[in-house]
Amino acid sequence: PWGIRLSGVTVRYPNGTVGLRGVDLDIAAGELVAIVGLSGSGKSTLIRTINGLVPATDGQVEVGGRRVDGASAAALRELRGHIGMVFQSFNLAGRTTVLNNVLVGRLAHTALWRTLVGAYREADRRLAYEALDRVGILSKVYERASALSGGQQQRVAIARALAQQPRIVLADEPVASLDPPTARGVMDDLRRINQDLGITVLVNLHLLDLAREYGTRMIGMRAGEIVYDGPASDASDAV
Ligand code: ADP
Ligand code: ADP
Repeated sequence: PWGIRLSGVTVRYPNGTVGLRGVDLDIAAGELVAIVGLSGSGKSTLIRTINGLVPATDGQVEVGGRRVDGASAAALRELRGHIGMVFQSFNLAGRTTVLNNVLVGRLAHTALWRTLVGAYREADRRLAYEALDRVGILSKVYERASALSGGQQQRVAIARALAQQPRIVLADEPVASLDPPTARGVMDDLRRINQDLGITVLVNLHLLDLAREYGTRMIGMRAGEIVYDGPASDASDAV
């Protein structure tokens, strides 16, 4: 039931720029979709439309059977609770611990003073440990986030998404600022959470070879339109 469906979605930004142009897309639960295209082709707009951060000007967006376009703020909040986000720039609070970063999404369930003294509820703490273990950085749990390497910081961000127990993970250029071997390590983690946990993963990539290797499906974008949709292995350089 945690598929994603866009029908005739156009996004026009307030300044008139068109981010998406009549996009039709149907993603089944459990897919690992690599989205490729040049800078400005609409990849992040697509991701931000799926979590309701950018409103569709036209068309319909449906995620997990819920309508995203026109949804109330409360409905969007509920939806985003099921969607983990990963960004190019990691978006961590550098001065605080890895543990605090992973559990920041659970603050609603944990009184603020508890986080200040590191007194998390046992269930939350276990979730964090499990998520960090899954991405191989459990040993860093009490380090400051800023003390970690780029690849490790991105793993913290993935663990933060996992601690939410999401159905979908949306990753916007998660490896664009990492060197190639580190990028592959992070892609391996995304693949593992897709395969082991059945989480649907959409990942924006600017490198075709990573998309070919890791995607079970590839979407090619150009000027706000989908110009390729098919097996990642068959995709030509035309994208
Ligand atoms: P990317 O190409 O990696 O998606 P950009 O560098 O194009 O990112 O954009 C960075 C930020 O600037 C984003 O938050 C995006 O929404 C915003 N942005 C991009 N293009 C424009 C624009 N033409 N006008 C206003 N904001 C923009
Ligand atoms: P990509 O992620 O492939 O780099 P984007 O989705 O960021 O592409 O951008 C698609 C188009 O929308 C670009 O022309 C970009 O400049 C424009 N754009 C993105 N964000 C904004 C924004 N906040 N305001 C205006 N235009 C934007």
